[in-house]
Amino acid sequence: MQSYQETRRVHRALIIGGGIAGPATALALRRAGIDSVVYEAHRESIDDIGALLAIAPNGLAALRILGADGALQALGQPIRTMVIADGRGKKIGEFPGLAGLPPSLAVSRSQFAGALRGQAVAEGIRFECGKRLVAADEATDGVVARFADGSTATGDILIGADGIRSVVRTVIDPRAPEPVRVPLLNFGAVANVGVDARTDAMHFVFGDGGFFGYWLQADGRTAWFSNLPSATLMTSAEARAVPADRWLQRLRDAYAHDEPARTVLRHTAADQLVVLGSMEIMPSLPHWHRGRIVLVGDSAHAPSSSSGQGASLAIESAVELARCLRDIPDTTGAFVAYERLRRSRVERVAARAAKTNHGKALGPTARTFMRLLMPIATRTFLNPERTLGAEQRYRIDWSELVV
Ligand SMILES: Cc1cc2nc3c(=O)[nH]c(=O)nc-3n(C[C@H](O)[C@H](O)[C@H](O)COP(=O)(O)OP(=O)(O)OC[C@H]3O[C@@H](n4cnc5c(N)ncnc54)[C@H](O)[C@@H]3O)c2cc1C
Repeated sequence: MQSYQETRRVHRALIIGGGIAGPATALALRRAGIDSVVYEAHRESIDDIGALLAIAPNGLAALRILGADGALQALGQPIRTMVIADGRGKKIGEFPGLAGLPPSLAVSRSQFAGALRGQAVAEGIRFECGKRLVAADEATDGVVARFADGSTATGDILIGADGIRSVVRTVIDPRAPEPVRVPLLNFGAVANVGVDARTDAMHFVFGDGGFFGYWLQADGRTAWFSNLPSATLMTSAEARAVPADRWLQRLRDAYAHDEPARTVLRHTAADQLVVLGSMEIMPSLPHWHRGRIVLVGDSAHAPSSSSGQGASLAIESAVELARCLRDIPDTTGAFVAYERLRRSRVERVAARAAKTNHGKALGPTARTFMRLLMPIATRTFLNPERTLGAEQRYRIDWSELVV
């Protein structure tokens, strides 16, 4: 009987994008016995956006397969409970983490990406920065990546881990749908003020101004994010073209009657404000792969930041892609199996996030109505196990053979 090493035909992968999915895929491929090089568009660092995110228990479990959970545990702040309140500070409901699962970990996106990259480099994986992919051509025996600086690279397969505005996605399918913008503007920062809260609780406030999330950091400051309803849809570049102090004033006006948002925003400096533009969600993609080229992470399935699952799903997909390439010798068969294992899972998460976004984007009258209904909902049908159980209890068995 042949082992998978004897039958496998992929030896060298080109990974486009060094954010979260890129280094996670490189680490997973290494465990499957496949070499890779990561090509990142940015020159020096990948921390273009200082957003904060949470890695859910399923993401942590996938990281454990890569031996990268330790780095996250060292950086992350454990979040054991979610508290829902109105803008007057009245608690509407509290949901402890799901029984038997470790807490989610809140972490700076750039620090987390840096840690993953550091681990990949320590394991001998090569990163090339300043390499922006502009095209890719397939030949019968390989694929050639073409970069903006005129250089090229050749590999057996090419993996697009190049995020929600993926170029690789358009190489696979020039008519692939683009990300859809949701009528919510995304902002975040860390304020130089503490709030009266536990450090292991994430707070979600449905206030007059809209949705406002925050948590108290161990350093006594308050991390926060806002999803401000806005019919004007903006890319992050368009939103960043507006001076930060104007955005801050708009946020202060919107949350003028909500606490602790009002206090937190008063202690937020304009130069600390992270302006991300309209929230984006990837519609279902008709094609995840073509020939020797495949997508992983946000390029294939960005479920919007409301899901709290984008990074966790990206890591899961990295692991599953490597497992399929490990076990299925023909590339097309491996990509088909990968899509079969992943598509329904990521689309279910995106569907839940879309419902959450709908609630956050309500107008003032509907918001008031929702606030009135919330206390009943949290006592009756809002059941965390039913809503989040399947997402957070999901585990990949690395030792199981993909057939
Ligand atoms: C405000 C906000 C909050 C979020 N909160 C959460 C959360 O709580 N939990 C969670 O799990 N997820 C969250 N997410 C989502 C999470 O950040 C993404 O799902 C995750 O970063 C996806 O990783 P990725 O590697 O696929 O894409 P990215 O992190 O976007 O990385 C893509 C990389 O590819 C590079 N690149 C792009 N184009 C090219 C090119 N042509 N050539 C070479 N390189 C290229 C980019 O420079 C970048 O480094 C949030 C996102 C936002 C915006």
